[in-house]
Amino acid sequence: MPAVNDYWSLVLEALRQKLSKSNFEAWFTSLGFVKTTNNGRKLILSTSSSFSKNYIETKFKHILKEAVSKYYPQVVHIDFEISNTVAETTGLQQEGFFPLQSELSDLQEKIKEVKSKTINLNQGSIIPKKNIHNLNPKYTLENFVVTGNNELAVSVAKAIIEKPGVQYNPVFLYSGVGLGKTHLLQAIGQKILENKPDSRIRYTTCEAFFNLFISGIQNKKSAEFKDYYRNTDVLLIDDIQFIAGKEATQEAFFHAFNELHQNNKQIVITSDKHPKSLGAVEERLISRFEWGIVIDISKPELEDRIRVLKDKVERLRLPLTLDQLTRIATAVDTNYRDLEGVLNRIEARIKLLPEKPFEDYELNKILGGFHQAIPMNIQIKFMPNSSDRIMDAVCKVFDITKSELLGKNRQQHIALARQVAMYLCKNELDLSFPAVGKIFGRDHTTVLHACRRLHDDMAIKSKISSKVEAVKSMLQEAFAQV
Ligand code: ADP
Ligand code: MG
Repeated sequence: MPAVNDYWSLVLEALRQKLSKSNFEAWFTSLGFVKTTNNGRKLILSTSSSFSKNYIETKFKHILKEAVSKYYPQVVHIDFEISNTVAETTGLQQEGFFPLQSELSDLQEKIKEVKSKTINLNQGSIIPKKNIHNLNPKYTLENFVVTGNNELAVSVAKAIIEKPGVQYNPVFLYSGVGLGKTHLLQAIGQKILENKPDSRIRYTTCEAFFNLFISGIQNKKSAEFKDYYRNTDVLLIDDIQFIAGKEATQEAFFHAFNELHQNNKQIVITSDKHPKSLGAVEERLISRFEWGIVIDISKPELEDRIRVLKDKVERLRLPLTLDQLTRIATAVDTNYRDLEGVLNRIEARIKLLPEKPFEDYELNKILGGFHQAIPMNIQIKFMPNSSDRIMDAVCKVFDITKSELLGKNRQQHIALARQVAMYLCKNELDLSFPAVGKIFGRDHTTVLHACRRLHDDMAIKSKISSKVEAVKSMLQEAFAQV
């Protein structure tokens, strides 16, 4: 009986027959068998980069699964290992960047780890031939939602995209985890590439840079490393905080930085903290980080979280009500990654039982029984056509028609209804006085007087405030249905 990995060549052969020559060569020739685990139920493969892993998973998932199931019938899950984390080299020896004693043990560990993982490196060069940019197609500018906490970062990103290396250089972007640094960084790369396909863009994590440095010590391909960085138009470095305490790596980075900066090449750096809080990082490097612009993505407000969730739910076409959505965003108040985690669980449940509506009790279970009251203004603000809904609810409560509400009739009952509708549009939707005026075909001063008057009347006339409450609870009911 053949060994379990002998079947892998049969899988590859089956794939070769199914795919075009170019697709097979681009994505599958470097795909390697690593092992099966979990009593043969899990198959682990190695790919050359996370880009090719993602590409294979999005474009060829079914074809791969089909071919695998032919020869590995027990396999229910396929996993990937990235095998070329060290597929880059440095010229550091020549410039005298030897690791310090304190880094050596770290480096040796890393070398062992990388060697044990490395199965299928490109033979000649150790710089990856394919996907030189290392960008993940999932992170685009189009699916990065602009919210109050990230709008500054997005506008800087757009300025860089338009003219790399001109206005802000370097850009230092920092935030807590899961708030979109990696996404935005990669989106910048993708967009520049889209605008100018021959741009030489390098996305690398600080860790990969570190690996590259170690690899430079191990290999004698210094010219390659120099070219790699010299021939870069845009350098995107993710999670620079890991450079703290690694003095020789800092030295290497310092030189790469200077060379690129002097040549007006765009550098974008992300970090989980401000440059000044990086700890054991050389002062000269910190000051360079601050040369351009330092911006942060702050913790998102409830509104921001709803906005991002709404976008994701629409993209995934998940049948969630606005009430459910808002409850998720209310309960998960940490970051976007956690929100995605909850959404993934919901998506899995909906896909498993597509016929069965997704009920509130199931959502409660996923949210760990968390059920917090959703602020009224948020409920109203996020309803589609919210000003129309406010007007409809007012008409119902006051028993008048919409044309009466919007007309000129000054009868007391109708005038009051009009004031209530204007007041709610102003306060619940955060609209300006002129914007409300436009909806009602009135001057902004009329709206101002109406809102003041109603505000005062509500304080002394309970009949009026209970009417306003009645309109609000009608809107609340509508909200749960949306
Ligand atoms: P960080 O690098 O700051 O830890 P990531 O960029 O990995 O965060 O973001 C975590 C997840 O949240 C990613 O899947 C990303 O796509 C998503 N995400 C973050 N910010 C946004 C946003 N503004 N719009 C859409 N998705 C976002
Ligand atoms: Mg990140």
